[in-house]
Amino acid sequence: MLPRLVQAFLSSPNPCSRAPLPPRTPTSAPPFAQATAFGPWLAYEQRPATLSRAAACSPSVEPCLTESLLMSSALPRSVERLIEAFARLPGIGPKTASRLTYHLLRTGEGESRELAKALVAVREGTVFCSRCFNITSKESDPCEICEDPGREAGVLCVVEEPLDVLAIERTRNYAGRYHVLHGAISPVEGIGPDDLRIRELLARVDAEEIKELIVATNPTLEGEATAMYLKEAVHNPELRMTRLARGLPAGGDLEYADARTLSEALEGRREV
Ligand SMILES: [Zn+2]
Repeated sequence: MLPRLVQAFLSSPNPCSRAPLPPRTPTSAPPFAQATAFGPWLAYEQRPATLSRAAACSPSVEPCLTESLLMSSALPRSVERLIEAFARLPGIGPKTASRLTYHLLRTGEGESRELAKALVAVREGTVFCSRCFNITSKESDPCEICEDPGREAGVLCVVEEPLDVLAIERTRNYAGRYHVLHGAISPVEGIGPDDLRIRELLARVDAEEIKELIVATNPTLEGEATAMYLKEAVHNPELRMTRLARGLPAGGDLEYADARTLSEALEGRREV
């Protein structure tokens, strides 16, 4: 069932490329709320919920919506620029972007300076590890995990993002090394295998004589598609490939579990 789903997912075209959204014009946008003492700023904050929902639901609409909203306002260009910069970050829509900017304007200058310094420092002082592609400081490449002789050789845990490494390290239950793909295969977003660190992973499997590959991509359609692709691409019968088990969360309640999670928990049952 799952492989067929994944295959269909992999072959599905990007709907966005076939049906581009019509361009928005300022006259088509719903009117803003009444301007207040804070002028267009709060009018933007209090815009109708329908407009807000549309902006939150459609990433393709969001940038042009943000632009049209801001262009019609009387905000200083520097403020517009910061809102636009925040809105480009994942998970942050125009409303949150404007709130963050407003927060920085209201708080002391020190907070903004500290944020600016931290941004510069993270760009100038960090790189991706040349072996596992996790985040590391410029001074220690390869990273500490790759260089740690106490780590189990021959076992690689493949994850989508650097934050996933942190999550697994927090368990203190894994002693192998990692490989960060920096994403997952997603035809809808136009991300293919060549956009990820898959070629480097395959090279490592041969060069480091890897015995087990733990595919810890997310339990999403994209994560499953990536796992299936890796299974096809590795072509090594001696290599053990495993996938993280799925099932019930610790402290969870059976009656609140969805059918798919419960079904996977049943399949992954073990001896007690
Ligand atoms: Zn590394």
